[in-house]
Amino acid sequence: MQVLLAQKLTQANDEAAAANRRRLARRGVTLVNVLGSPGAGKTALLEATIARTSGRLRIGVIEGDLWTARDGERIAALGVDVVQLNTGGACHLDAGMVSRALSRLPLAALDLVFVENVGNLVCPAAFDLGESHRVVVLSMTEGDDKPGKYPTAFRSADAVVVSKTDLTEYTGFSLTAFEQDLRSVGCRAPVFPLSALGGAGLDAWVAWTYGNRPRADGASRTHVRKEKG
Ligand code: MG
Ligand code: ZN
Repeated sequence: MQVLLAQKLTQANDEAAAANRRRLARRGVTLVNVLGSPGAGKTALLEATIARTSGRLRIGVIEGDLWTARDGERIAALGVDVVQLNTGGACHLDAGMVSRALSRLPLAALDLVFVENVGNLVCPAAFDLGESHRVVVLSMTEGDDKPGKYPTAFRSADAVVVSKTDLTEYTGFSLTAFEQDLRSVGCRAPVFPLSALGGAGLDAWVAWTYGNRPRADGASRTHVRKEKG
């Protein structure tokens, strides 16, 4: 009974995600799903990206949060369109929520929409939102041993951001050890070490962001749902 219900929910989510993907492809809008733990630096990354691309890339943001609008207010202060999604305690976003948020964004006037998922490195990995690209953000303060501990999230990433590199000397974080662990769980995504506050490494990340266009055929990201979360 439990298993059947879970399968039905998963199927409904996948159908809503596919509809989001087709809708965004028709509009020529790239959707980027940003995953990471609480405090990983997801909002700071979006702030820095918006500042660096101002006037050249039309960005909208969907902010996932359990209860507050704190991150949404930070983004809105930069003058970009933002939709706040409060899950009322639920620990991930699903494709239906994102569909409703997309209806509140001026898609015709946007090139790219970032979704900041609820701070959580576990179950958001199992929910396809209809994104064309998925980014996992891990801060140096979380430690370089995380890919092996959260393989589903890292394996599904199209890009991995290692944030807070200005803290390297205090954390003992080894980028070499991190990348070895990342490759050992089957993640082939590019890694972007950066400091959103100091600005180091941001150029490479921003170049990756520019390079992303929606898949014209609205094709599914096949690696999102290969395994159960
Ligand atoms: Mg945030
Ligand atoms: Zn969840």
